[in-house]
Order: sequence, then C-alpha cells, then structure tokens
Amino acid sequence: MQKLAHTKIIATIGPSTWDDGVLLEMIDNGLQMARINASFADFNELERVSEQFRRIAPKVAIMLDTMGHKIRVTGFEEERVLKEEDKIVLIPETKTESPAGTIQITYPDLHKYVNKNNKILIDDGNIVLVVEGIKAKEVHCKVKIGGVLKKRKTVNVPNVHLDFPTLPEKDVHDIRYAVEHNFDYIAASFIRNVEDVEAVRKEMGETDTKLIAKIEDTEGVEKFDEILEVVDGIMVARGDMGVELPLEVVPIKQKQFIQKCRMAGKLVIVATQMLESMRENHRPTRAEVSDVANAVMDGTDAMMLSAESSTGKYPLEAVTVMNTIAKEAEKALKPQAVTGRTDASEETDAMCSTLVHLVETLGLKGIVVISQTGKTVRSISRHRLKVPIWNVSNNVKLIRQTSLFRGVVGIYVKQIETDRDKLTAKVAEIVYSQGLLDINDKIAIISGSSIKKKKLNSILEIAQVKDLLD
Ligand code: PEP
Repeated sequence: MQKLAHTKIIATIGPSTWDDGVLLEMIDNGLQMARINASFADFNELERVSEQFRRIAPKVAIMLDTMGHKIRVTGFEEERVLKEEDKIVLIPETKTESPAGTIQITYPDLHKYVNKNNKILIDDGNIVLVVEGIKAKEVHCKVKIGGVLKKRKTVNVPNVHLDFPTLPEKDVHDIRYAVEHNFDYIAASFIRNVEDVEAVRKEMGETDTKLIAKIEDTEGVEKFDEILEVVDGIMVARGDMGVELPLEVVPIKQKQFIQKCRMAGKLVIVATQMLESMRENHRPTRAEVSDVANAVMDGTDAMMLSAESSTGKYPLEAVTVMNTIAKEAEKALKPQAVTGRTDASEETDAMCSTLVHLVETLGLKGIVVISQTGKTVRSISRHRLKVPIWNVSNNVKLIRQTSLFRGVVGIYVKQIETDRDKLTAKVAEIVYSQGLLDINDKIAIISGSSIKKKKLNSILEIAQVKDLLD
C-alpha cells in the first residue's frame, strides 16, 4: 500500500518543529522540504535549522524563503487601538518612539508613490487606512476599518508600484549563505518582474540552487508569463496575494498558474492557510480539507504549511492529514496530459508525452528515469501520471530537488554504470527490494542512449521486472 501521496508537502520550520523526533516523524509522513522563513528566522536560526536538517535528514530538501521588501509598522511596543474615522500619519522609521497620532513604517519613500484615496492595508488587511493627503514625507490617512494594531504588523499598498532599488541587506546575506551551504531552493519574496528575478540571481551567482518566484501582488500576477520563463518554479503565495488582489481572484490565479507551470515543466507550490485551523485544533475544517484536495486536483506539485507547522500545536498531524487528503484526491484523478514545451529537448518532451498512453494501455507500474539533469523527470511529472517516477541519480542535490515534483521518488546510486543493462538491472533490484514492484509488473525505463556523443538520443524501454532481475 502506497504510504505517501504523489503530491509533495513542504513545512515551515519554527519553534513547534525544532525537535529532531517531531521532524523525523513528519518526514516519515510525507515532509519533502523544510522551509526556513527569513521574515521570522534571524541568521542564527537559518544556520541552526539548516545544519539540523542536514544532520538528521540529508535527503530532505531545504528552502530559504527570503524576507523580501516587506513593509512593517514599527516604533512602538504596546498595542494600539485604531478606531474608524481616526486620523493617523504614517512616517518613515526614526528608531525612536512614534509621536502620538503617527505610526512609523519601515519603508521611507511611501510619500513618493501614494496618492489621495489609495488604500493602505495593515495586518493582512485587518486594518484599512485611506490616504487623505501627503505633506513632505508624511502620509496622512483616515482609518476606514479599525482594529487593534500590534507591533511589526505588515503593510500592503495594493495596486501601487513601490520602488525598491536594491535587495534588503538581510536578503543578500541570507541568499549568499543559502547558496554557499547547498540549499536546494531559494524562494524569493514579492517578485514583480524579470528585473526582480535578475537582482536575486545576481546575488546567487553561479549555482545549482534553484530559484522560485513568489507571486504575491498585482504586478507579479500581470507579469507571470515573463517571470515563469526565467525561474525554476513558482509559489502561489496566497497570503499576500489575498491582500494585494481581491480575494475572489486568488483561486482562479491558483488554477491558471498551476496549469502554466505544468506546461513549462516547472515546479509549482500552493501556499498559505491550507490547514490554518490546525494551528489550534487537531482536526482541519471541512473547507480546509476541500482546499487541499482541490489544490491536488488542480495539479500542483507541492503544498506548503506555514504557521501550522512553525508555531502551531499540531505540526505532525498537519503533515499527516495533508498526505491523507492528497492520497485520496489522487485516487479520484485521471492522468492530466498537458501540451507545451519544457526546457528538455523537443524529442524528450514528445517521448515523455507518449507515457500517458503507455502507462494506461500497458498497465505500467512505474517509470525509471536515469537522469543527469532532471529535465526528463520534469517532462514526465507534468502529466501527473498515477504511477511513481523513480529518479535514479548519483547526485544527491538533484535527487532532493526533483523529489519536489509530483510523483517523483529519488533513488540514489553511488555510481552510474556505463553499461546500461547492468544499471537497469541494479535499479530494478533496488525498487523491487523496497517492495514497490512485483515480479510480473511491467515498467518503463528511460535512459541516455549508448550512441555516444548524440545528446538528443534517449531510449524508452518497456520491461517486465522478472526479466530485468534475471
Ligand atoms: C504568502 O504570502 O502566501 C507567503 C507564502 O509569504 P509569507 O509567508 O512570506 O508572507
């Protein structure tokens, strides 16, 4: 009985998940990648958690999620009550206590970009201000929807392009650390255009660490196609997206972005509030179960837990229930063939498409891919077949990275034999000995061709397990 769903689970690591035992159980129940959220984790935490993961679970991927240009309120400790119709002035951070009637924010140039009647959302939109006027660096506002304002809450200014000339210093530092320490992915926050991607890539330098763009605002949504071309994957960051865009648009964007990522063979992650109530409760709500199942049915590669696993009371239960829901939803699905071109060759894409038909008609139980770059694996995974794709490689980092794609399971071999028959026999033995195949099962095997120096040539072979083991 298959224990883990084909859809992958990412969990944000925080105080609730700092314990080795909890983490190992989460991994056993489907956790495929640890996310370190630099908005909350300082440098010490980044270092400590990544070292902990490499020590206890070297096969599990690690992702840095950068802080990005997040604007926050600052300059006060005690919470404040903002009442409807109150007047409030937003001013640049001064490092001293905010004078009465003012709130400091961490972005000094807001006055340059906002106009009368622009909305300013605080604390994920729980408090809404409307701009009434600008005086020098002061942004004078009226409270439209009041509430209790706690320290360090976020500030969003929907539909206004704010200029951030350079990456925050913390991002530069964190990105360099992640690259130097072999992180598998970097998720860059608030990517709005290709220039934002280039700024992150510049700090990353030459590396095999993969870059994911978090799409979180109107501009990022509008420029999605251009952004997708220059990154390795996309995170549908529904938290900020639901503040920056009308909430009802978010599920539609989720579906569209998943489809586009699959066509391009790039990683797609659905994030935020998937099992939100499990921060406090050991069972999710019906609506949350439905949200997780729908993300699986939309065809996502991976789903992400945020506060549920970082500060919530039930991180292990959240992973377990997410895996259970995904498995059930996958049972109800048929393979979802897509068109479009990935970054593999035209020949590889065409060959991988035939597997949709072959798996069905021949009743294949899995696909072995002997992979140097992961391109073939991604070209197959995007069709969301119902059988595992065993990615055989001698590159541990490649295995960790490709294991985030739907249906992909990494198989590490110390050495890739040059004799193709010997290698396929060895792989069949590994998979068979794990109890994942029976002797009469048929599988597909894809590997490079023995015709040397012909980069385009791949071999697709259909074989019965018993013949491979002979
Ligand atoms: C989001 O906004 O959905 C998200 C994942 O980003 P963050 O948690 O960094 O706000």
